Amino acid sequence: MHVAFFPLGPYGANCTALWRDDGCAVVVDPGADGEAVAEWLSRRGLSLSAVFLTHAHFDHISGVDALVARHSAPVFLHAADEPLAFSRFNTSQPGYAGMSRSPLLDTSLGEGAAVPGWRGSVVLHTPGHSPGSCCLYFPSEALLVAGDTLFAGSYGRTDLPGGSPAEMRRSLARLRALPPETRVICGHGPETTIGYEALAH
Ligand SMILES: [Zn+2]
Ligand SMILES: [Zn+2]
Repeated sequence: MHVAFFPLGPYGANCTALWRDDGCAVVVDPGADGEAVAEWLSRRGLSLSAVFLTHAHFDHISGVDALVARHSAPVFLHAADEPLAFSRFNTSQPGYAGMSRSPLLDTSLGEGAAVPGWRGSVVLHTPGHSPGSCCLYFPSEALLVAGDTLFAGSYGRTDLPGGSPAEMRRSLARLRALPPETRVICGHGPETTIGYEALAH
């Protein structure tokens, strides 16, 4: 599996693309610029099989509409974050379009599920930053796409709507139990590893 990530939008939310040798790709958090992500996929001849949203904050989901307009694919979001996706908090942020209610939106994936077509992926429900925050884990690749749950040297804020410090503590404890060599792609900023973060917190 191949992996690339790059920041998008004023808040620099990382968009992660994962793809196989057969050209099948999953995009995690298309950030603020779905056009740029669509172009990125097209240039490489990749076909989008799924969009996975780590959580519903505007800086991670505002690119969804433009992306799936060009590369139609199901959009997975944890059910607990669906209300947040369409809340006023999320749709009133300058510079961000938000996401429309689309028939492509699928809220059926929960803890322990695999993204359809991506055997070897595991959804970890890690609430705290938001009620439906999830990480996408690939155990055989020792790779975790963590969204805003874990950052290099830090972790996601818990004072936004639906946030919970107690849930965040539990979620971080779960992540610390993953193998230390696990590579972590964060929702913002540089990548890190579980081993480094387990020492840092
Ligand atoms: Zn964010
Ligand atoms: Zn967030």
